Amino acid sequence: MTKQHDPAIASQSDISKRSLMRAWLWALPLLLSLGFVLGVLLWARNNEAEERALQRQTMISDALSTEAQLRAKLDDEIGHLRELAARLQGQKPSTESLAAQPELNAGLRRLWLSVTWLDQRNRIQAQLPAESEGQRAIEEDGLSLHLTAPVGKDGTEGMLVVRYAPALLLKRGVPWWLSHKYDIQMVDSADQVIASSTEGSVRLAQGPRPSYRVSFPGPLRTSPLAESALTDAALELTLRDPPSISTRPLALVLIAGFLPLIAGASWLLRRQVRHITRAESAWRTEAAWRRAMEDSALVGLRARDADGRLLYVNRTFCDMVGFSAESLVGLRPPMPYWPPDALEELTARNRLNLAGHAPREGFEARWRHADGRTLEVKVFESPLVDAAGKQIGWMGSIIDITNAKRLEEGERRQIEAMSHNARLTMLGEVASTLAHELNQPLTAIASYNAGITNSLAKLGVSDAAVLGALQRLGQQAAQAGRIVQRIRQFLTRREPQREACDLQQVLTDAVALLGRELRRAQVQVDLQLAAELPPLFADAVLIEQVVINLVRNAADALQARPQDRRIIICSSRSAGSAISDVDFLRIDVSDNGPGLAGRSAEALCAPFYSTKREGMGMGLAICRSIIEAHQGLLEVGESSSGGARFSFSLPLQQPAGEAGNSGESKHD
Ligand code: ADP
Repeated sequence: MTKQHDPAIASQSDISKRSLMRAWLWALPLLLSLGFVLGVLLWARNNEAEERALQRQTMISDALSTEAQLRAKLDDEIGHLRELAARLQGQKPSTESLAAQPELNAGLRRLWLSVTWLDQRNRIQAQLPAESEGQRAIEEDGLSLHLTAPVGKDGTEGMLVVRYAPALLLKRGVPWWLSHKYDIQMVDSADQVIASSTEGSVRLAQGPRPSYRVSFPGPLRTSPLAESALTDAALELTLRDPPSISTRPLALVLIAGFLPLIAGASWLLRRQVRHITRAESAWRTEAAWRRAMEDSALVGLRARDADGRLLYVNRTFCDMVGFSAESLVGLRPPMPYWPPDALEELTARNRLNLAGHAPREGFEARWRHADGRTLEVKVFESPLVDAAGKQIGWMGSIIDITNAKRLEEGERRQIEAMSHNARLTMLGEVASTLAHELNQPLTAIASYNAGITNSLAKLGVSDAAVLGALQRLGQQAAQAGRIVQRIRQFLTRREPQREACDLQQVLTDAVALLGRELRRAQVQVDLQLAAELPPLFADAVLIEQVVINLVRNAADALQARPQDRRIIICSSRSAGSAISDVDFLRIDVSDNGPGLAGRSAEALCAPFYSTKREGMGMGLAICRSIIEAHQGLLEVGESSSGGARFSFSLPLQQPAGEAGNSGESKHD
């Protein structure tokens, strides 16, 4: 068997997939933000490396330029020294001749600490300034270095030695902005600091700082005699304040601020998404409920706009009128389910409804199903309002009352037939009673008439007028007797039409017939029927009349009670007695009304006895004659709740010799 693809199931799974996706949608911004943060960090790292490389390049070029400047400065000083040596050539080495040279003073002002004139055997010939001053200058400026220049051709006249402080050289030879930017040091091959641009050589101990070293060969000598002692000195530039790589902390700060923000925003978003998802699922459930309710409702629903155009119809409505929703929605009156012969009436009714004059308690209408059968409906109109509370049309609830109407009609006919029967029975009873009551006086009149006629004959009265009158009197009395007899024969009570019947069914039908009346009178009837009673050989219509009469009487008596009005109808089978071995079916109708106040069955069943304002007083009399016509017995008594109890028993067995529809009247 191939597996069928169910679109409903597919769409359901689509919906759940979409809901799942939506439930996790909140995480997307968070993921994007984390990606963004990662990107920023990578960029910052990259940027930092680039910045470091740039910094290093700058430092290298600064170091090279510093080295070049210092070298130029020294070369310059050597130039000046050589010039001084040239001027001293041929002069007698003395302090005076040295002091007379303007270059000397200019040199001292610039960089020189002292100038010493040595002879060929390196003995000091002259020295300026004096030893003590030179010493002080050395103490002030730290370690000193020397520059030398030969005096005379190839140093024949000695050698000029200039002492200078490398610290001073750094101070004066390095542009201020470089010494601002770097700690510049001159170090020897043993990493000993010879001079430093920072006063007192205070090294800022803030961790490793970027530095760069260039060799500074040539003119560095601590002693004029050790020509090559320090030729491999170096110049070291150390960045003073390594500019913190600007992007990194900023990026970190931004990220540190950004991450909690985005986490908070994601949390809020998640909450919102969950809220929406929950609301959506609730809305979906509600919509499904509503649809299920609308479709399963027994009430037809239709929504119309203010012009009467159909906006919506539910399934029950469609089933009711036999048209599909598609063919109905959008239609304006006259509707296809209006019977052609009632168009005018329904159009007028519709106009009233749309004007807001539909009766609140609903109205009945006759419609026509698509298959042509007539529908009886009850319509309730109520305003249709939109979400803003504005009325946009009318909502109609329609109940199909065709069956109810049919039942009602049947019930009405049955009640009519029943009361017709009851009237006939009563008339028969009245006629019987009258005939019975009038028969005696009429017989008496005839007897007296005959007596008087005989007495007059004995007395010899032969007055023709008197005898004629008496004769007519006798004839009239006989005529009256005949008339009464004829009326009695004509209106004689219906004889029981006996046949096997189900007593339980008779009781149920009787109560059902009185249903409406009993509800109106707010009387509760409790049927306590014995299980499986044998069939009864009786006239079901007459027995039903008896039960109806007894229940009606009880309901009338119960009106004396303000509430809790109850009637109990019991059916049972009672075994035969010593006199008769025939079994009986017994019916008890008890109420919790005021009771019978000790009145006997005889009194209550007497014809024309009634305590009701409009009572005829024939009900119980008829009941008794019907029961007795069935060889039964009617009894009265007190119910367990203090009210009245009317009971009747009917023999189960068909009386011997009685065939089918024969009966016997009590009154003849
Ligand atoms: P009607 O109902 O016309 O009065 P009935 O012969 O049916 O005539 O009843 C006769 C009278 O019996 C009633 O008027 C009423 O006083 C009394 N009666 C009948 N049934 C009851 C009952 N269940 N409880 C109290 N009184 C009753």
